[in-house]
Amino acid sequence: METGATQNGNDTRSENGVSSLIFLGTGCSSALPNAQCLILPADPPCEVCSQSLSLPPEQNPNYRCNTSLLIDYIDEKGASKYILIDVGKTFREQVLRWFTHHKIPRVDSIILTHEHADAVLGLDDIRAVQPYSSTNEIDPTPIYLTQYAMESITEKFPYLVKKKLKEGQEVRRVAQLDWRIIESDCEKPFISSGLEFVPLPVMHGEDYVCLGFLFGKNSKIAYISDVSRFPATTEHVISKAGEEQLDLLILDTLYKNGSHNTHFCLPQSLDAVRRIRPKRALFIGMTHDFEHFKDNKALKEWSNREGIPVQLARDGMRLFLNL
Ligand SMILES: [Zn+2]
Ligand SMILES: [Zn+2]
Repeated sequence: METGATQNGNDTRSENGVSSLIFLGTGCSSALPNAQCLILPADPPCEVCSQSLSLPPEQNPNYRCNTSLLIDYIDEKGASKYILIDVGKTFREQVLRWFTHHKIPRVDSIILTHEHADAVLGLDDIRAVQPYSSTNEIDPTPIYLTQYAMESITEKFPYLVKKKLKEGQEVRRVAQLDWRIIESDCEKPFISSGLEFVPLPVMHGEDYVCLGFLFGKNSKIAYISDVSRFPATTEHVISKAGEEQLDLLILDTLYKNGSHNTHFCLPQSLDAVRRIRPKRALFIGMTHDFEHFKDNKALKEWSNREGIPVQLARDGMRLFLNL
């Protein structure tokens, strides 16, 4: 794997002809800073959140939007295809910060992990990354999701799903989306903007299946943003001892200690890295429990002991690699 990684959002270097991953968001559902920490400060105040009062977001790796990944996939013809995973509550802010910074002009296709607020509530703003047409006469953007997520989104955003105007109804400009149903099944891969994705069903609470995705021909990457337990079949597909060793595992971690009913916390995330044995792992989905620099230092020591580099990702981080 080529690893021209930028450690923060301030590096505008691009590598012509090389695909990349851009971490649009690495925070939990409430995003960081946690609003409660600022409007009702504890004594002493939360250090991680109160930093955001004095540091601008681009200089603050503890400022984390909802988890989301943008894949800049350079296809066989050398053209960029922009594939967006998840469109959460903070999507507009992520576009303003990181699409401008990394010069991303549009989104070519969208993939949803699940239908929770932090994964879908920005869908209205997809029109900002589509060509302008006051009459909605543009090619709809393909969006891949499960039937379960489709049903939920039909209730949350009926106007994004309904096609025909009723008689007398005015045309209003809304995001144009081409809804495509995928299966929660490792055996049912699909193609989004020319790149193959293998769905990785995982438990996100024992009553809920969320999808992660395995992608990349030259570098194998697994992206799993919301998980509390790996079913054995899914873990087999992404394990060194199973089908293939991953070049990069991008994995959920919510709190530093203990456990949680719907997410991995650091002990479970590190256990999973030990079992799956990727060549490298990056954590996402963190609450204000994590301080970027301090906890990355501790993770570096863990990495040295275990022989697998593991770090917390940060918003705006761009990783160049051969997909
Ligand atoms: Zn806080
Ligand atoms: Zn969720």
